[in-house]
Amino acid sequence: MTFEIRCSCCGHRSRKFSLENFWKTDPAEQIAKHGWDSFGDAFYCPKCVKTWASRNGKNKKLWGKDHTKQRVYQVIIGDLLDHIEYMRTGEWPM
Ligand SMILES: [Zn+2]
Repeated sequence: MTFEIRCSCCGHRSRKFSLENFWKTDPAEQIAKHGWDSFGDAFYCPKCVKTWASRNGKNKKLWGKDHTKQRVYQVIIGDLLDHIEYMRTGEWPM
């Protein structure tokens, strides 16, 4: 099972992480380290993080590294639950 996130601004995808290697390459750590950031539920790639201030003004700040990592874990858990549901029922949850 692999995992990736998408930039809410330009659609750029992170590299694909294999969840089997989770403890060797914690995706949340890698994604934050490579300069991804987040705002609420949305992820932004390193390129769009650089242009964030000019697009959104100085007062609207991205939520930072810790929030980004938490969001990555939430998405992984969501994906895992979908996967379990698929194994249980043979259908992907809507
Ligand atoms: Zn982007």
